[in-house]
Amino acid sequence: MEHKGKVIQSTGSWYKVAVESGEVIDCRLPGRFRLEDHQQTNPIAVGDNVRISMNEDGTGSIEYIEDRMNYVTRKATHGRRGEQIMAANIDRAFVIQSVRKPKLKEGFIDRFLVTCEAYEVSPFIIINKMDLARDKDLKFVDHLVHLYHDLGYNIITTSIQDENSINNLREELKNRTSVFIGPSGVGKTSLLNAMDPELELPIAAVSDYSKKGKHTTTYARLVQLHFGGYLVDTPGIREFGLVNIEPAELSLFFPEMLGPRQHCKYYNCTHSHEPNCGVMEAFERGEIDPGRYKSYLQILESLEESN
Ligand code: GDP
Ligand code: ZN
Repeated sequence: MEHKGKVIQSTGSWYKVAVESGEVIDCRLPGRFRLEDHQQTNPIAVGDNVRISMNEDGTGSIEYIEDRMNYVTRKATHGRRGEQIMAANIDRAFVIQSVRKPKLKEGFIDRFLVTCEAYEVSPFIIINKMDLARDKDLKFVDHLVHLYHDLGYNIITTSIQDENSINNLREELKNRTSVFIGPSGVGKTSLLNAMDPELELPIAAVSDYSKKGKHTTTYARLVQLHFGGYLVDTPGIREFGLVNIEPAELSLFFPEMLGPRQHCKYYNCTHSHEPNCGVMEAFERGEIDPGRYKSYLQILESLEESN
């Protein structure tokens, strides 16, 4: 008999699969699956939806892997070629920034949004520590909320001292597979613990994506949330920030540039210095937010450096 389930942990040879009853079964992958895909070093990733058959000893065999809705990768480690899937079927990626302590960085949000667009993962912006906001912070946050909302992104404000905001956030994670991305100190651990006090929070789930961490040998996994849903806990998920995008393609990931870029003279316009650029003209007419355009130029520069 076959069961449907979700891979919640992977060691490379064994996979833990949570089946519909809630039970977790140790599974193996039959050899034939291993040869098929040369692009990725791991044929199965956490988050994969699979069908398994049960063996007599209580273990399972993975029989079928459903098509992935999306997946995030990093370059393969240990000198192997190709890329390694960090997690598949992510319903939501949350980016967390705090109003203060540490200071809110718009650039971090914009870089994250580009990555989400490139990976086709649905982004969600959280501005935390609202209790620390002063008058001018409130104005700025209000501006950001309108800006991102108008661009079509989800954005909410939270404080661990505001139960209402925690309840609202919980609803957004409920029954979904989520990942939390943000610099250290913004309150990722605090928010997760506030939403799910029974959570035995692993370190990697809240690791800082902007700092280069030490190599870690722990394996990718999904943490089951007690109110329903999963949290991606994968070492290296902080490298979520790195995606290969051609500089001339970057504006495809800025929704407000999609219209204006059609009026550029050059098909490979980078909207930074070229004459007759539709994006720069739209910016000058005040149709593109200065903070967003600044982020665009910063990301462009980093892409040009790495090319
Ligand atoms: P992480 O590194 O992103 O996981 O951040 P932590 O959850 O460890 O939080 C860093 C610090 O910020 C801790 O001292 C928290 O108590 C504090 N903190 C987290 N959320 C809030 C909040 O909403 N308001 C205030 N005032 N402090 C917060
Ligand atoms: Zn242009």
